[in-house]
Amino acid sequence: MSISSDFLTGKNTDALEYFQGDKILIHKDMRADLSSMFEHAQRDGLNLALTSCFRSYDLQKSIWNEKVQGLRPVLDSTSQPVDLSTKSNEEILFLILRWSAIPGGSRHHWGSDFDIYDLSIMSKNYKVQLIPAEYEKGGVFYNANLWLNENMKDFGFFRPYFKDSGGIAPEPWHLSYKPLSEKLLESFTFEVFQNHLASADFLLIKEAQAFADILYDRYIQIPRQFDT
Ligand SMILES: [Zn+2]
Repeated sequence: MSISSDFLTGKNTDALEYFQGDKILIHKDMRADLSSMFEHAQRDGLNLALTSCFRSYDLQKSIWNEKVQGLRPVLDSTSQPVDLSTKSNEEILFLILRWSAIPGGSRHHWGSDFDIYDLSIMSKNYKVQLIPAEYEKGGVFYNANLWLNENMKDFGFFRPYFKDSGGIAPEPWHLSYKPLSEKLLESFTFEVFQNHLASADFLLIKEAQAFADILYDRYIQIPRQFDT
């Protein structure tokens, strides 16, 4: 398959199609396995759903810029908000990277990666936060988490951010479709990333360019090590 740099960096949606109505775009090659995983989960009493899958470069950029500007909370490793007013630009860059990908460098740009939750035991008013506590013992998505541990592999899914790599915090809700994302990650060379940064326009772009090699090794290619 030929994979364009525009697709890898979230600027092309040709390979995507809608899933769960008309709000969430996924890669079309993932639909069959995702649907059958959801059907199997349903037989076991769960009601799995996606909170997000494909995110464009522009959307990631606006999330990113809002965090840099303090319009959206930036959380530390324990999910507590950080006061950015005393931090340098370099510190802010790496603080945001803990939970948010650099625009153009997100696995959510591929439609092969998504955030998952379980509607079955959620009350109507519950607001999903996507924090580790929700997926741990006593958390609202703990059962779904256990089910995924047991079954997701059978459908081709794994968690790229399962362990703390020293860069991105562990994200039990983030799943990836291995048959697809493995190929995409391989195509996402340092050259692709550098070319992207050369023309990108998000806030802290100068800092991102200065640390391009670290961003690439620690935040884009690192999940491969935990791909079991
Ligand atoms: Zn995610």
